[in-house]
Amino acid sequence: MNHQTRISDVQEIMRMKEIFDRKEKEFFSRFFQKIKVSEVVRDKIKLICTAVRDVFGSNYEWIGYLLGNENYIIKDIFIPYQVINKAFVKEDEDKGGVNLVELEKKINETGYKLVGWVHSHGDMSPFHSGVDDRNTFALVRFIGFQSRKSILKLDENPRRVDRFASDGDDLIIMGEKTFITVKLRVPTDLIKLLINRNFLERGRENESLARILALILNYSDWWFLKRKWIAPVYSIVTNAALEFYGEIWMYDSEADPKRVRRGDIIEFITTRPEDESILYSYDEIKKIVSERMVRY
Ligand SMILES: [Zn+2]
Repeated sequence: MNHQTRISDVQEIMRMKEIFDRKEKEFFSRFFQKIKVSEVVRDKIKLICTAVRDVFGSNYEWIGYLLGNENYIIKDIFIPYQVINKAFVKEDEDKGGVNLVELEKKINETGYKLVGWVHSHGDMSPFHSGVDDRNTFALVRFIGFQSRKSILKLDENPRRVDRFASDGDDLIIMGEKTFITVKLRVPTDLIKLLINRNFLERGRENESLARILALILNYSDWWFLKRKWIAPVYSIVTNAALEFYGEIWMYDSEADPKRVRRGDIIEFITTRPEDESILYSYDEIKKIVSERMVRY
């Protein structure tokens, strides 16, 4: 269609913008308000804290990665090889490759995605230190990339197709400043199946199809949209007394990581039957703790 109905264009742009904004807001209100954690994960955190005390004789800091389902509900924790201490914790740098391989294995086994990280402050109260801020900032791209979801936005300068035409086997899509040439390579049998033979010229089926498509497409409006990717990235801090503090950061494919919420924002969700598969015995946890944690 030619650009004669400018006012209706503006109205259509406003309508689409409203829909996209509403969807983005819905995404935010669902996943950026609270950190939802299955109770089975809290039980596991308790077992890890107890095992650390058992194995090392005191409450030390430790670190884990949070695994969640498609609704970002945290369902499990992955414990990497790490160096622990009273006042800090870090991944074991010599085991960086092993940690990545093991994490990927865990993700494939459970079908969960990486949605954040957790660390314990041992005997100290849970909060985000400056180091925790820097660590989270550094982790947002790595974590968010794995659990991102796409949302649509209008292109900065919404454009539409002016007219469709055909030229032999080519379908031409004409914009104000650009032409797109579509070379049709549709198998003749398929065209005959889709379109009444009366419309087709024998041996020139693609040409007939281009003409028919151009005719039909002139009754359509095409809009250019752009896609961006976002995800919530969660940071949970806990301690040996099982107190909790949470932060929600935003992964945005077009912007730097930023903190969205923090504080007492963790909500525990009743264990579901499907969570039973990740139940661990204390002995299993103690074995993992003794194998993967080294005191600095
Ligand atoms: Zn910390």
